Amino acid sequence: MRVYNFSPGPSVLPLPVLEKAAAQMPDANGTGQSVMEMSHRSKDFKPIIEKTEALLREMMGIPSNYKVLFLQGGASLQFSMVPLNLAAGDAPGKGKKAAYIDTGIWADKAIKEAAKYAAVEVRASSKDKAYTYIPQAPAQAADDAYYHITLNNTIVGTKWDKIPDTGSVPLVSDVSSCILSEPLDVSKFGILYAGAQKNLGPAGTTVVIIREDLIGRAPDWTPAMLRYDIHAAEGSLYNTPPCYGIYIIGLVLEWLKQLGGVETIAKLNREKSQLFYDYLDNSRVFCSPVVKQYRSLMNIPFITKEKDEAKKNEIESRFVKEAAAAGLLNLAGHRLVGGMRASIYNAMPIEGVKELISFMEKFS
Ligand SMILES: *Cc1c(COP(=O)(O)O)cnc(C)c1O
Repeated sequence: MRVYNFSPGPSVLPLPVLEKAAAQMPDANGTGQSVMEMSHRSKDFKPIIEKTEALLREMMGIPSNYKVLFLQGGASLQFSMVPLNLAAGDAPGKGKKAAYIDTGIWADKAIKEAAKYAAVEVRASSKDKAYTYIPQAPAQAADDAYYHITLNNTIVGTKWDKIPDTGSVPLVSDVSSCILSEPLDVSKFGILYAGAQKNLGPAGTTVVIIREDLIGRAPDWTPAMLRYDIHAAEGSLYNTPPCYGIYIIGLVLEWLKQLGGVETIAKLNREKSQLFYDYLDNSRVFCSPVVKQYRSLMNIPFITKEKDEAKKNEIESRFVKEAAAAGLLNLAGHRLVGGMRASIYNAMPIEGVKELISFMEKFS
């Protein structure tokens, strides 16, 4: 029996995708091999990576002056690759200026990593209120090498309600937990990056969408594996890419296209999240800690209204345990913030949200 999996990542995948992958496991596309067994340079694998890229371009409306890269190392490696490629100087520690907005734990990790290569300036932060809102984005400086935001903050459940205009300074965003969740104007960004394990496919693949003029700026001392120019020149085949992950992403994109694309999934995502927020806002037991204007469509943290700390912890851990026993999995909040969190990515059906609400009603 399938459970409803509210994990923040790796997370639920569409059942038709899993079933198709299972059917094709020993013999993909009549090749007599599993995708896992194919040479990444073979004529059998080539159409797979090409199809995945073409579908991603189609679903996201990626302009032709952007490259799509399938890399490894997760979003976390992009925390290093972005500053290395766009702001690092002739020697470590002599980097250019880079602007960051601190909207949560992932943004903070990106900042700490970038500070090793770039002259990082944190222009705004919402840390003062436990990251429950998105701060005003100050204007870029003319000599910023780039301007970095985290569009959807997975742990605290916020998202930017509008994309800042940074003029000629390239806007870079971590979109790990919101890619393909609603329409996004790619042309407003210099770089978008995402670990696949939230809305795209299995862990192990990182998607990077980069405007061509930003490729080729890495200093000579940059390790080959961390250079966008090398990966772009080789079509993500400089070394062995995460072949199986790329294949599954292709199946997920096919599923999304059949469903009606990003507009359609966005409508469903708004419906699902609205249902859950409405429930939280009217509950006598539970509530959302996030300011309304900035609430995420994908990750919804919630807490109980209990004031007594010990009692609250007891209730919340009992909630997570009893929900799991009822087939509603992975509802614990991030270990650093506590409480509960329901991640309702593209592949979570609305029935899962309804089940969760009815369980919460009973628990109340
Ligand atoms: C999950 C997540 C990450 C970390 O991704 P890895 O692939 O594990 O490196 C970074 N940023 C955001 C916004 C995330 O949701």
